[in-house]
Amino acid sequence: MSDTGFTIWLTGLSGAGKSTISKEIERRLNAIGRNVEIMDGDVIRTNLSKGLGFSREDRITNNKRIAFVCSLLTRNGVACIAAAISPYREAREWARETIGNFVEVYVKCPLEICEERDVKGLYRLVKEGKKKEFTGKDDPYEEPEYADLVVETDRETVAESVDRILAKLVELEYLSAAIIG
Ligand code: ADP
Repeated sequence: MSDTGFTIWLTGLSGAGKSTISKEIERRLNAIGRNVEIMDGDVIRTNLSKGLGFSREDRITNNKRIAFVCSLLTRNGVACIAAAISPYREAREWARETIGNFVEVYVKCPLEICEERDVKGLYRLVKEGKKKEFTGKDDPYEEPEYADLVVETDRETVAESVDRILAKLVELEYLSAAIIG
């Protein structure tokens, strides 16, 4: 039987843990022989979405492009992970409708903790006035109202968050229970 494709859509602030969680999910899925594609927002902005800015319109266009590619991969049996801030509900809903086998995960972490982590040094640039239109600071983040799952990365370990995401995929019958067995 061929594998069921699906997309895990991780949304959350910069530094919340989307990339970290993606890589760990990829490792776990590769271990059971699944093909995985991570659509990382930072990477996509250097190719597929090169030239787009950070206005509401451009952010939505960026997310729709990611969703479109995810829809192609998903229908071909790939386990797809989108790791992009995706601050607007409108774009996330478009992704859900376009992709079909879709799980929205809110990677939740208080802004202050993301600022403390400052993994990419971006919050420092914002503080120094060298970066504008930054989500959570001077640009909006619309919290998901109907996420399929919320992981709280200031309270859970990476392994705990990933286990909960995989359990949700089993519950939705996108994955066999063997992954968590
Ligand atoms: P994002 O991709 O959302 O911008 P990153 O994954 O690059 O965020 O950075 C998140 C940081 O938070 C990493 O340094 C990671 O080690 C740390 N972290 C601590 N706890 C967690 C957790 N439960 N899930 C994900 N990341 C976590």
